[in-house]
Amino acid sequence: MDEQAESARDDEVRTRTSRTTRNANGERGVDASSAVSASVASSSASLAAAPDAFAKSDASAQIARAQQAVPNPNGAGAVLGLIRSGSAVTRTQIMQVTGLSRSTVALRLDALLAAGYIAPAAAESSTGGRPPGSFQINPYAGVMLLAAIGAANMHLAVADMHGTVLVREHDAIDVALGPERVLGRVASLFETLLKKAGQSAARVKGIGIGVPGPVEFAEGRVVRPPIMTGWDGYRVADFFASRCYTCPVLVDKDVNLMALGEHRAGWSDTSHMLFVKVSTGIGAGMIMNHALQRGAHGGAGDLGHLYVGHLVPGEPKLCRCGNYGCLEAYAAGWAICRHLNESGHAAQTARDAADLAQRGVREAVEQMQNAGRLLGETIAMAVSLLNPSLVVLGGELGTRQSDMLAAVRETVYRRSLPLATRHVQIVNSVLGADAGLLGAAHLVSDALFAPSVVDAAIGQPA
Ligand SMILES: [Zn+2]
Repeated sequence: MDEQAESARDDEVRTRTSRTTRNANGERGVDASSAVSASVASSSASLAAAPDAFAKSDASAQIARAQQAVPNPNGAGAVLGLIRSGSAVTRTQIMQVTGLSRSTVALRLDALLAAGYIAPAAAESSTGGRPPGSFQINPYAGVMLLAAIGAANMHLAVADMHGTVLVREHDAIDVALGPERVLGRVASLFETLLKKAGQSAARVKGIGIGVPGPVEFAEGRVVRPPIMTGWDGYRVADFFASRCYTCPVLVDKDVNLMALGEHRAGWSDTSHMLFVKVSTGIGAGMIMNHALQRGAHGGAGDLGHLYVGHLVPGEPKLCRCGNYGCLEAYAAGWAICRHLNESGHAAQTARDAADLAQRGVREAVEQMQNAGRLLGETIAMAVSLLNPSLVVLGGELGTRQSDMLAAVRETVYRRSLPLATRHVQIVNSVLGADAGLLGAAHLVSDALFAPSVVDAAIGQPA
């Protein structure tokens, strides 16, 4: 374990985060929308079209299809990709990277400027280290609505097109109340947040939602979620389409968004990363070769219901999925609370359990250590199978529990095959509760700024 490298990485993360915040503070309220955002509104409208033309969530289906198309490597979308990633941000840099002529680069940039996708970044050249004549994604072209829905609470935000959070809200909710009531609450909080941010529904370019269950991603459909009563087969995008949002709605499993958020925030150079959420429930998100892996039906990473009953003395414990001996039945927040309640301690939520452990209550500390050991056994198998170079522990317990992290590290280093563990780092999440929201912002902007989607939106010739 290289503590120095880890701390340097932490510093890097903090620097990036603070830069984002500074940009947000510096630029907020300077909505230089006018012609630029009007034209992006019209270009987005060409994706979403008039409400009448797009029954239900066709905007989401259309963007999913456009994302599949092979982009023109020299098109405006590809140029936008270079600007977005920061790999080429001036005319000269774009010419050097693409090999395109000055006049073709000028055409591409003009198209992107006219459609409002990009804006000159001159104002930041002194502080952001950008060369003169740089372009950036136009943060004022619209807003994104983001919601990270958990089993018992949710985080919501309005973000600009850079993904910088403008306003946010947190609320308690029981996801088992069903989609209409939960999403109804989300929609009403979105309205409040939009007002607070001085924005309107017409300015919303994309909606990103994380839910605590498996999602068939291309369809935005929740599939057989164990704890989301009434959600099976529900298409989240349809709900927002019926509320007059004509923009694309992207939906994914909560832990996938957390993995995405964490990866982009601090580990984007890491090609293979496993993110394990330990909260009320347990799940994993996998980044393999820099891309999120969802599996054939959105069920990848379901670590919580692997059998560990043979590792624990006594009869296997009952899990909330109905089976016995699942990892969750010993190591999830709900199971730790169950155990603490049985031993006379009041703990309703994962946070209560974490608080008890932090106060040094012996049973709680022991529970965290036992949970860490069983998590470690399960993660060791995943590490041997997938060979990630980084494992991030997130969620309410995974983020805050040093006892749990220590037990996971010890078990994984002891159990995994030497080749797999030689370089694997195991760390706590740096984003904590924000991982899901920031991941949702990346999910939406990846879709809106996908090169083939951009080319289709501005009618770029192939
Ligand atoms: Zn189970």
